[in-house]
Amino acid sequence: MGETSLKQTVDKRRTFAIISHPDAGKTTITEQMLLFGGAIRQAGTVKAKKSGKFATSDWMEIEKQRGISVTSSVMQFDYEGKRVNILDTPGHQDFSEDTYRTLMAVDAAVMVIDSTKGIEAQTKKLFKVCRMRGIPIFTFMNKLDRDGRTPLELVEELENVLGIDAYAMNWPMGSGRTLLGIYDLHNNRIEVAHPDRDNHGERLIAVDDAGEIAGDHPFKEESVYSEALEEVELLKIAGNTFSEEAVRAGELTPVFFGSALTNFGVQTFLEAFLKLAPSPTSVADKSGREVTPTEDQFSGFVFKIQANMDPNHRDRIAFLRIVSGEFERGMDVQLPRLNKKIRLNNSTNFMAEDRQTVETAVAGDIIGLYDTGTYQIGDTIHTGKETIEFEDLPQFTPELFMKIQPKNVMKQKSFHKGLQQLVQEGAIQVYRLHHSNDYIVGAVGQLQFEVLKTRMQQEYNSDIDMTPIGNRIARWIAPEQLDPKMSSSRNTLVYDRFDQPLFLFENEFAERWFSDKYPEVELTSLL
Ligand code: GDP
Repeated sequence: MGETSLKQTVDKRRTFAIISHPDAGKTTITEQMLLFGGAIRQAGTVKAKKSGKFATSDWMEIEKQRGISVTSSVMQFDYEGKRVNILDTPGHQDFSEDTYRTLMAVDAAVMVIDSTKGIEAQTKKLFKVCRMRGIPIFTFMNKLDRDGRTPLELVEELENVLGIDAYAMNWPMGSGRTLLGIYDLHNNRIEVAHPDRDNHGERLIAVDDAGEIAGDHPFKEESVYSEALEEVELLKIAGNTFSEEAVRAGELTPVFFGSALTNFGVQTFLEAFLKLAPSPTSVADKSGREVTPTEDQFSGFVFKIQANMDPNHRDRIAFLRIVSGEFERGMDVQLPRLNKKIRLNNSTNFMAEDRQTVETAVAGDIIGLYDTGTYQIGDTIHTGKETIEFEDLPQFTPELFMKIQPKNVMKQKSFHKGLQQLVQEGAIQVYRLHHSNDYIVGAVGQLQFEVLKTRMQQEYNSDIDMTPIGNRIARWIAPEQLDPKMSSSRNTLVYDRFDQPLFLFENEFAERWFSDKYPEVELTSLL
C-alpha cells in the first residue's frame, strides 16, 4: 500500500471500547451498531452469543454457566466509509484486569448508562482508567423508553460523580410513556421517537432559528415539548460550550440520550461519534520516539491473551493492537523481549459472526495471533531494523486474595505450569510467601478465581484448593528498605513474579500503623 493510501486507510479507523455497568444495555447497543454496519443480519445474534448458544464463544464453560462474557471480544464493521473496531469489555461486577487493559488498546470509549439508575460503581472504576489515558469519552444515556431520572439530574450526576464536564448533544422530550423524541442541539432538529404515531412516518423535524418547530405540530400542545425547549434554552445559556478539542482531550463528554432496545437515537449517536472520535494516533515507545500510524515500519503491542477459544485446540490467541504500518499475512517480525524473529502466518481478525483469517490490517485494527506460548501481555512486535518497544502496560493492584495449593501434592509440576501460564496471560497475579513456599493469588474480581480453578482443572489437569483470605491492600516496598521483621500477621510479606517484595495489609488501619512505625519506608501501589 502506498503512503497516501495507507494514510487514507488509517484515517478511516475508529477503535473504541464500550464500558458500562452490567445490564445498562451495552450488548443491545452494540448489536444495533452491528446491524447498521451490516455485520450481523439479525438482532439477537450478540445476545445469543452472550447466553452461550453461539459457537465462537462457547469456548469456556464458565461463560455458558454464567451467561456472561468473561473476556472481552472484538467486533469490526464498516459504516459510512469508516472501519469501526469495537472492543467489548466485561461489565460484570466480577470483572478482571482484562477490562482495564482493553482500554489501553482503544482511541476512545463509549460509556453506556442506564438512565433509570444513573452512574453505578462499576462505571466509575472504568471511567478512571479512561481519564488516566486522556482518551475521549462519549456518554449514551440509555433506556429513555422507561421513566427514569430527569435528564438534568443525570447530567449533573455525571459531572459531579465522575468529575468531567458534559455537553448535551441532544435532550429528551419526555421519557417512558410520555417520550416524544429528542431535541438534537447539535444538528438543530427534533428526532421523533414514534414517527408513525406522531409524525406521518417522518423521523426528523426541522426547527427554526428560535429553536421551535415551524408551523403547526401536535407536539406544540404537549407539556414535555415546552419543558424540553425551556431546558434547552437553559443549557444554551448556562451549559458548557462545545469544543471538539476538549472532547478529544477527554475533558468534555458529549452526552446522547436514547433507547437501544427500541433503536431510538442509536444511529444519531453512532454518526456523531464517528465524526468526533479520533482516528489512530501516534504512540511513544520506550526510547521516547513517537511511532506514527502511517509509517512504513509495522508495529503493535499485545494487550490481551486468551486461551482455548476453540475448546478442541490448546492454542491461545494474543490480541494485538496495531500501532503503525500495515500487517500482511506471512510477514516476518521481531519480538524484542526475546530478541526473536517470528513469521506471522496464522492470524485472525474479528468479525461479528465469524472469526476470519486476516490478510491485511492497518494501524488501529486489532488482530489475533495464534500463540503457542510465545507472547506475553505488553509485548511489542515490529518489522524493520530499528527496534520499537512500547511502554509496559500498567498493572492493576489486585484487591482480592486466596491461598492456593494443588490438591494432589504429587502433581506439583502441572500445578506450576498452569499457574505460570495463567499468570502470563494476565488473568491473575501470583505471590510467593516469604516464610514458606506457598502461593497466594490475587485478582481484581472474584470471578477470576473461578476461572482459575476451572482452567487449572480442565487445561492442566490440576485440581486446586483455594482458601480465601479476603481483601488486602497490596503495597510494594523497595528491596533495600525491606527488613523481613517488618512483616506481621496484619501485613504479610510476599514476593511477586518478578521477585519484588510487597506487603499485603489487612486493612487501611494496618497500613497507617505501618507507615507511622516506619516513616522512612516508601510504599507504592500499582494502578
Ligand atoms: P449489558 O449487560 O450492558 O450488555 O445489557 P444488555 O444489552 O444485555 O441489556 C440488559 C437488559 O436491558 C436487557 O433485558 C435488555 O433488553 C434491556 N435493555 C437494553 N436497552 C434497553 C432500552 O433502551 N430500554 C429498555 N427498556 N430496556 C433495555
